[in-house]
Amino acid sequence: AKELGRNTFQFYTEALTQAAVRRLSLETRLRRAVKSDEFVLHYQPQVRISDGRVVGVEALLRWQDPDLGLIPPDEFIPVAEETGLITQVGEWVLRTACRQMRQWLADRNGPDTVAVNLSPRQFQLQDMPALVGSILQSTGLAGRHLDLEITETALMEQGPDAARILHDLKALGVRISIDDFGTGYSSLAYLQQFPVDKLKIDQSFVQKIPDTLGAAEIAATIIAMGRNLGLGVVAEGVETAAQLEFLRNQDCGFYQGYLANRPVRAQELREWLAARTE
Ligand code: C2E
Ligand code: CA
Ligand code: CA
Ligand code: CA
Repeated sequence: AKELGRNTFQFYTEALTQAAVRRLSLETRLRRAVKSDEFVLHYQPQVRISDGRVVGVEALLRWQDPDLGLIPPDEFIPVAEETGLITQVGEWVLRTACRQMRQWLADRNGPDTVAVNLSPRQFQLQDMPALVGSILQSTGLAGRHLDLEITETALMEQGPDAARILHDLKALGVRISIDDFGTGYSSLAYLQQFPVDKLKIDQSFVQKIPDTLGAAEIAATIIAMGRNLGLGVVAEGVETAAQLEFLRNQDCGFYQGYLANRPVRAQELREWLAARTE
């Protein structure tokens, strides 16, 4: 038993060291990535269920490290948040997405909005309304073409400031979406207090419909609540025709998911859109 205990301990320290080393090397690489243009945005269509029109796209960040290859955001965003590098990364994302959206406006079949994910730390480190305002101004994009995705948790962490920040953002004309809706630990009362435009049903529910009791009920409830509150509802992570059929029957407004398209580079999205509307 003693032997086993020691081995287990050794195993743990080794695993911890490996994780720490990977994290440290990620941090160093992330600093370089910010300077040397290793990021790219992919865009995933948001489709209106009633007529199949692509009304918007969500910008999703990709990091191509020269040695490590493609690193998923779930792995490096937390590191960017802990190190504060999220301010530079976040600014790059906002600016790039707005610039791209500005170009799409010239296309006949381009999307109307681009959605950008904001992390909770960005609100703590920066004056987001001021930043968004200056980026809209420098890229020449009207606020109504920008949609900001914020999680419930991020909102709750702002405490009493949340309402003021959201109102200042709304004053710029931008849209506010609540991301991963249904997974956060929060009160629904904020939907009434805050100027929110859209709810995004978390994919953990969407992927279990139509057959899993519970998940289907939660999705249906969010859709009905959105309708009653006059909010748009987007189902994310839609992969099957059966899921889409369920959403259509519930009168859900929009969906996103591999069923329509994976997140792709701007140029590829443009070609996909053109082929769709030919
Ligand atoms: P999210 O905002 O909830 O984004 C949805 C995720 O689901 C994306 O993963 C997307 O590629 C994936 N997805 C879309 N459709 C499907 C589907 O049909 N099936 C499945 N299984 N997955 C689908 P991704 O791109 O790896 O991003 C993961 C998370 O990283 C995002 O979750 C978001 O929280 C964060 N993230 C991505 N880009 C940014 C960014 O620019 N800034 C910040 N702060 N966070 C970002
Ligand atoms: Ca999102
Ligand atoms: Ca989400
Ligand atoms: Ca998520």
